[in-house]
Order: sequence, then C-alpha cells, then structure tokens
Amino acid sequence: MKEKQRVEAILDGEVTIIDMSPKTNIFLIKCNWEECNSSSIQNQQPTSSTDNNNRDAHEIEISHESTHSTPQESSSSKYSHIKINKKAKYILIDTGTNGQEEKLIKVLDKELGITPNDLSLIVITHAHMDHAGTCWYLKKHFPHVPIAVPDLEYEMLRRGEPAPSTPTNLVAKILYIRGSRKKILPFEPDLRFKGGEHLEEFGVKASIVHMKGHTEGNIAVMLDNKKAAIMNDVMKGGFFSYGKPGYHLFYDDKMQILKNIKWAFDEGFQTFLVTHGYAFTREPLITWLEKELKQNKLM
Ligand SMILES: [Zn+2]
Repeated sequence: MKEKQRVEAILDGEVTIIDMSPKTNIFLIKCNWEECNSSSIQNQQPTSSTDNNNRDAHEIEISHESTHSTPQESSSSKYSHIKINKKAKYILIDTGTNGQEEKLIKVLDKELGITPNDLSLIVITHAHMDHAGTCWYLKKHFPHVPIAVPDLEYEMLRRGEPAPSTPTNLVAKILYIRGSRKKILPFEPDLRFKGGEHLEEFGVKASIVHMKGHTEGNIAVMLDNKKAAIMNDVMKGGFFSYGKPGYHLFYDDKMQILKNIKWAFDEGFQTFLVTHGYAFTREPLITWLEKELKQNKLM
C-alpha cells in the first residue's frame, strides 16, 4: 500500500484534509456527538494564561505524560459564555490565508456540503496569516461559530500581528520579506487555549497540546484514538510526494520541535498532518526522526 492510501485508510473520513492552495492544508475533524455525550466531560479552564507549569515541564523533558498537558476533569460551565452548536458536523483547524475567504466557503461546500454554520469550533494553531487569515471574515459573517486561539498569541491576533518565527534558509527569507507585508486582519477570538483542553464539548474526542518551537504559543490537536496528530507548522511534509517529513522553513527552537515530534511519535499517533506538504505515517517519520535525534544529540 502506498503512503497516501495508508494515510487515508487510517483517517477513514474522520479527518478531512483540504488543500487551500498548493500544499497549504486546513483540516476538519468530524463531530461524533453520540460518542462524546456518552463519556464523561473532560475539560480544563481555557482562559488562564498564568499557569506555565505544563509549558515548563514540556521544555525540559523529551518524554511524555509530564511534558504534555493532559485533559483534567472539571465542569462544563467554563464554556457557558459561548453557545455551542450541538448539531454541528465538524471542527475546523486553521482557516487559510487572507483573501481566501470565498474560497474557504466554496471548498467547505464542495468537499463536505457544509457552511461555517455547521462548525462547532474553529481552532487556530498559531498567529500566522496563512492559518488565521480568514478569521476576520468568519467572525463577521458567522459570529456564532466560536474561534479558539493559542493563549500566548491571543493579543497578537486581536491586534492583527503575526507571531515571531525565524526564517531558516534563503527561500524562507524571501518568503518572509514578501509575507511580512501581509498582516493578519484583526478579529476577536472567543476562547484562549493553552494546552490541556479537551474538545469533547464541541463534539470531538481530541485534546489540545501546546507545542512551541515554530512560534511560542503554537498549539496542536491530537485525536484521542491516536489516528491523527494535527501538527500544522510544527513540521512540514514533502511538497511533491507523501511520506517526506521535514522541518518547517520557519522556526525559533529546533530542539523543542524535535522533542514535540518525538513525544507525538512515542504517544503512538498513526498519522501526522501538517499544513504545508503532504501528511505522513509513522514509518517515514521514525527514519527521519532517529537521524535528527542523533544529529542533535537527543539520543
Ligand atoms: Zn506558521
């Protein structure tokens, strides 16, 4: 079986990958309200940005439980200030670039037959224009669909400022110069996620993990059943074929990125979904990861 088929077979329609422009993906996770309603509510207070325990632990250690925040039990009242659409069909992860507003509406209709009103939640992984670029439009025209953003980048998104991230080669420097002129249009997010939140209340069995390295506040979405680690710009995939994991062109902390990837691999996630390039499974990832861990003296 080829890598593309392997990815599709594992995801089995649970996660839909939509390419917004050449190899720039957004992701939709299918809601399963029946499954979510039958299990206990697990959530964590999403509004505080002062508790850095998870982040600190995450920075120091390579392996898990302690390094990545896990959902904790608490009441469902923390989302009482927003109205959750309990009939929604999907959660959307990232929204594409400024100017892709109409394209987003069209692809949602074409690929899944939905409008943004069929979303219970939009999660923005970090404050970059190709991820949060259409949020202003969604907020304006679909105000009842809540948008969750990384706690550490909440103020940047409100001001329309991109999160700092360093270009690592010449191509990235050129992209940076061109891209820096394109600011994110400001919008008012509804929720601040710092890692540890569970999405069960939004109809999806997945949790949020803080994964700094590309940007300081970057978050990722991990399915409970381990079928997918939706890691967006934590790394990238091959632009011409499946199964080619690599570093993103922009990052601030390579060691932290490697630790994040190792954590996700050790946790047993079966596919790794990235914004730029194709997705990949464990097989190509372990080959790449072992080499990088050795080169960077992390094993
Ligand atoms: Zn980015």
